[in-house]
Amino acid sequence: MINNNYDVVIIGGGPAGLAAGLYTSRARLSSLLVEKGIVGGQIAFAEQIDNYPGFPEGVAGVKLGELLHQQATKYGLKTIIAEVTAVELRENQKVVKTTEGNFIGQAVIIASGSERNKLGVPGEEEFTGKGVSYCATCDAYFFREQPVAVVGGGNAAISEALYLSKFASRVIVMHRRQELRATRIIQERAFAEPKIEFLWNTVVEAIEGEDMVGGLKLRNVLTGEKFSINISGIFIAVGFKPNTGYLKGVLPLDTTGAIITNEKMETGIPGIFAAGDIRSNSVRQVIAAAGDGATAAIYAERFITS
Ligand SMILES: Cc1cc2nc3c(=O)[nH]c(=O)nc-3n(C[C@H](O)[C@H](O)[C@H](O)COP(=O)(O)OP(=O)(O)OC[C@H]3O[C@@H](n4cnc5c(N)ncnc54)[C@H](O)[C@@H]3O)c2cc1C
Repeated sequence: MINNNYDVVIIGGGPAGLAAGLYTSRARLSSLLVEKGIVGGQIAFAEQIDNYPGFPEGVAGVKLGELLHQQATKYGLKTIIAEVTAVELRENQKVVKTTEGNFIGQAVIIASGSERNKLGVPGEEEFTGKGVSYCATCDAYFFREQPVAVVGGGNAAISEALYLSKFASRVIVMHRRQELRATRIIQERAFAEPKIEFLWNTVVEAIEGEDMVGGLKLRNVLTGEKFSINISGIFIAVGFKPNTGYLKGVLPLDTTGAIITNEKMETGIPGIFAAGDIRSNSVRQVIAAAGDGATAAIYAERFITS
């Protein structure tokens, strides 16, 4: 039975929200988690997670999501499937407006994650998890001694390329401009790495393959020349969009739209915390999201009981 008043309302059912829910429920705080899609969050799209401690053989993303949810539910976390459309501050109350009604929390933990920008080209969706990746830390290991491409020219893309160069046989960075946006020191490291090559003024027109990615159709934006390359993997690093659209004007956000917090996961508005990928400068990993969720929950409990 869902009521409308809770000690803590958690927005987002990924690792950050589920870890927060585990901690708040175990602290005997009435806790409601609101998730608009799949409980488990982004990990539901990860075939295998190999870098979350406690699973020496790795664990399927969907399974890890289920386990996290099961564990939090055991201690009393309530979950509803609904989309949060706004958070309003009314005197001492925090009202979380959703498509299934309004919920009031003494504290609110925002853990609605972020979405990776897509290229929007043919083959991208079809081959996601089959050679198309958005996370080198997660997937580089699967491309040992194979040629891969990285799309993008910022810090994230060049850091991904450097990381991939420890595994792949070749790393071809393709950027739609003539120069990188990454900081000078990262650029210098990339230029000095023999495995990394650059294709300037180049955009991806299509990702091709049979069961797995096999190649890319490319276009030079200056000359219009079209050409193809063979590749086993493509890492897309063209930015993130934090899921903070429903928070505009409520909280301080950074220039990318991510939530600025301190080390207690406090947002600047007393009683509102943020955790996981939605935070400014998040490292966007499951373990970090879960750690943020635990921290937010502990400080939310202190906020409520102080
Ligand atoms: C394909 C893939 C593979 C990955 N592999 C790995 C890996 O191997 N190792 C690793 O550590 N990390 C990996 N990651 C990254 C990892 O999944 C994220 O860092 C982690 O899930 C972030 O957790 P989170 O709880 O902050 O956000 P998310 O997992 O993004 O969860 C946020 C949740 O909030 C919900 N939400 C958003 N807006 C609203 C709203 N308005 N109302 C209600 N709900 C909302 C979303 O539906 C989502 O379920 C991978 C990511 C992807 C996409």
